[in-house]
Formats: sequence, C-alpha cells, structure tokens
Amino acid sequence: MPDFRGWEYNLVTLNKSRPSSLFPSDCHLSQDRKPKVVIVGAGLAGLSCAVRLTQRGIRTILLESTDRVGGRVRSDVVDGFTLDHGFQVLLTAYPACRELLDYKKLRLQVFEPGALIRHAGSFAMLGDPWRRPTQAFRTAFSPIGTLGDKLRVAKLRRDASRGTLDDLYTRPHEPTHARLARLGFTTPFINEFFRPFLGGVFLDPQLETSSRMLEFVFRMFAAGDISLPADGMAAIPRQLAESLPRGSIRFNQSVEAVEEGKIYLTSGESFDPAVIVVATESTAAAQIVGVPQLEAPWRHTVNHYFAAEKSPDKRKMLMLAGDEYDFGQQENSSGVNDRVISNVVVLSDIAPQYAPPGRTLISVSTTQGAGYDVSGEGLVPVRNQLIRWFGKGVANWEHLRSYSIPYALPVQSLSNITPPLANGNIILCGDYCETPSIQGAMNSGLRAAEIAQSL
Ligand SMILES: Cc1cc2nc3c(=O)[nH]c(=O)nc-3n(C[C@H](O)[C@H](O)[C@H](O)COP(=O)(O)OP(=O)(O)OC[C@H]3O[C@@H](n4cnc5c(N)ncnc54)[C@H](O)[C@@H]3O)c2cc1C
Repeated sequence: MPDFRGWEYNLVTLNKSRPSSLFPSDCHLSQDRKPKVVIVGAGLAGLSCAVRLTQRGIRTILLESTDRVGGRVRSDVVDGFTLDHGFQVLLTAYPACRELLDYKKLRLQVFEPGALIRHAGSFAMLGDPWRRPTQAFRTAFSPIGTLGDKLRVAKLRRDASRGTLDDLYTRPHEPTHARLARLGFTTPFINEFFRPFLGGVFLDPQLETSSRMLEFVFRMFAAGDISLPADGMAAIPRQLAESLPRGSIRFNQSVEAVEEGKIYLTSGESFDPAVIVVATESTAAAQIVGVPQLEAPWRHTVNHYFAAEKSPDKRKMLMLAGDEYDFGQQENSSGVNDRVISNVVVLSDIAPQYAPPGRTLISVSTTQGAGYDVSGEGLVPVRNQLIRWFGKGVANWEHLRSYSIPYALPVQSLSNITPPLANGNIILCGDYCETPSIQGAMNSGLRAAEIAQSL
C-alpha cells in the first residue's frame, strides 16, 4: 500500500494555477437528475461501487475513459475463440463475487482441483485430497515434494482458512519465499510447486509478495472452485454493468483531475457531485488526485494462445512448469533461455464454449519480459518448450494471438489494508487499495460505497 501521508496537503496546494478557461462550464444537469455520486472508472471496483449504491437507491454515474466496461478484465473473440487479456480465473469463494454476481447466469465452467507439475521430463499430479479424497494416496506418493511438504500444505491451508479475511490481513507478514522457508517446506517443493503456481498467480516468480497474499490465495483455493464464465472473463463486468439503470455509464469520458470537490474532464466539462469515487488503477488515481505516492509499481505478464486439432491433456488441470520453471536462477549451458513457460491450460477442455466446435484452445503463460515482441522470434522458445512437453504435433498448433500486459497487477506491501481513503468528499478504491485480485477490486468498491452512502 502506498504511503498516503501528505495527501491532504497535496490536495489543497496542487494545481492551484490551473487556468479556469480549461473548464468553462459545469455539466448541465438539472438538480433532480444530478447524481449524488460520480465514480471515475468502470473496472470491477467502480462497477461494484455503483451496483451497491444503486441497490441502496443512490443515484450514481460512472465516467469511463474507454468505450467498454471491465478495465483489466477483458476478452476478445478471434475466429470463434474467446481470448481473455492474459490468463485469468474467477475463484468462486471470493466473498464479493458471491455477494454481487449471479454465478448461474455466468454459466461457470470449473477446473479440476489440483495441478499437473512438470517433473523429470513428464507431468506428475499433485491432487487436492480435501476436494477429491480419491486423490489422497496418489498425492501422498507423488514425486513432487516429501510427505512432510504435503502435511505442511495441509497446515498452511488450515491456518489460512481460520478467522475472517480482515483478520488475515492483520497477521504478522513477510515475503512469501521467507514464510515458505520458515514453515519448513523443502527447496525443491518451493521451486517446483510454489514458484510456478504462486509466481503465476502473483506474477512474481521471486515470491517477494506478502505472505498475507499467500494466505489469501490458499484460503480462496480451499473454499471454492477455479472457474471461467462460459462467455469469457469479460462476462463478469458485463453482468455488473447490466444491473445498473440505463445511462449510468458514460463512455469515452476521460477525467483529468479531481480537485476541491470537483471533477474535471479532458473535454473541458466539469461536475460537482456530493461525492466522488476515484476507482481507476493506481497510476491514473495518482494523476487525477495529484498524489504521486499513490502510484504503485506494476507486475507484468506475457500470454500466448494457440489453436490445436486435439487436446494435449484432457485432465482439465492447471499444468505448471515445475522443475522447468525459470525464476531467474536457471540458465542452460548454451545461455539460451529455453524455459519460458510458467503454466499451460487447455481452456476448451474446461470451458468448451471458449473454442469453436471440434477445436482446442490452449493458453500458455510465460515469464517473458514486458517489452517482449509477441510475434515471430519470441514464439520460438515457447514452441520449443511446448514440443518438449507435448511432442512434435505442437508444430501444427496455430498461433492465434499473444498479449503482453505491462500493467497487470500493482505491487503492494499489504502492510496496511484499510478501507478506501476518504478525503473530504473524495474516496479512492481499486485493487491497489486491497489485494491485487478480482476480490480486492470488488470489495474495495463495496467499501467505497459504504463510505459514499454515509457522506
Ligand atoms: C493478466 C491479468 C491476470 C489476472 N489474473 C487474475 C486472476 O486470475 N484472478 C484474480 O482474482 N485477479 C486477477 N487479475 C487481477 C484483476 O483482474 C484486477 O485486480 C482487477 O480487475 C482490477 O480492477 P480495478 O477496478 O481495481 O482496476 P481496473 O480494471 O484497472 O479499472 C480501472 C478503470 O478506470 C478507467 N480509467 C482509468 N483512468 C481513467 C480516467 N482518467 N478517466 C476515466 N476512467 C479512467 C480504466 O479505463 C478502467 O476501466 C489479473 C489481472 C491481469 C491484468
């Protein structure tokens, strides 16, 4: 969490020299149609805030700079394949999702619990014996980790599930790698299981992320399913938006600044609602409210999609790179990086709607750099590694599209999870205020709504 001290000071002193001609008029809204709350940003945080305020009968308007809702949750349809912008999943245990989403209407398609882990040239299964008791024996004797490691996983899972989520955020914390070592996990287990698994979730191969996030993730994986909406991840923000009254969202409205109770758009318009909720990502929030400390550094990801004629593995599980995971310490003797993959998922086995009938959609997430050229050369190591895993048939897989996402997750210390900050009539929310996740974004929106209602 960025350090917010001095925000009050900045708000009253910054941008005093703004020429008034830039903002000539107040938006012409009659008094009775004037919204009480204006929310900047129609990502999951802003939409959740708007849904809750609307449920409470509070007139609300969302200003969104792009032409669609969802922010970082977005999906494209390419030749009949649904491609999410970066591999993303919905954990059904997320409390804010349970509260606001209609899972039935999303037609959630679920993963098989557990993971397939690359080990000594093949895939070993690490099951989830709590959810699939029949996998207990196989998991206990899986070559991934010692029996002690598996008992420690049980303890971690138990501890993470104790108390409330808010309690969890107040527990002593340290970097995830330090916590795992302190809990006694063996180095091979950390490197083969935790690094590719959590490295993919946190987009942080080094596992510097707070152990609070480790416990949050374990708690969520333990309590529900890993799922995908049949129509792609973008169906989540779409469902939230559809529950709002017509005309609540104004697209292509870019907010330049929020000062002294007023919202200024780049178009020159201005609003002066009773309450302003800034629900943008941290970088935009820092600019809009004029507080550079709000800006969090970013974690990136590079993700590739391939179409194949048949599935390389029908077990509907996450496939992790295991002993081939490059977390910055493994190089082969020729200096070529031939270990770029973090995880692979055969999406159409889990959600058949993601591919046209008879075709297979495969997602490949990598640890490749953010500035990576997603066409041509960069695909060579990916394909080579896939050929090692699934055989020569991979050469016939059709590359559909790649996504290089430099601004994927904000880096947070998670040292201070607090409700969104209210400063006068301005409230902040977004995933950078809680955990960098769908739950964190939506819950921060819900908390912002509570504060907005009370102002
Ligand atoms: C590749 C990837 C994989 C992920 N995987 C998962 C996962 O598996 N599970 C999970 O739980 N989470 C995952 N996440 C995280 C999750 O998607 C985000 O935490 C969440 O969507 C953030 O929502 P938000 O509303 O806080 O911010 P955003 O989605 O960034 O929304 C901010 C909105 O504000 C708008 N905006 C910005 N500036 C302005 C302005 N000046 N004026 C008006 N509007 C503006 C933006 O256009 C945007 O619509 C992933 C994220 C990415 C990118």
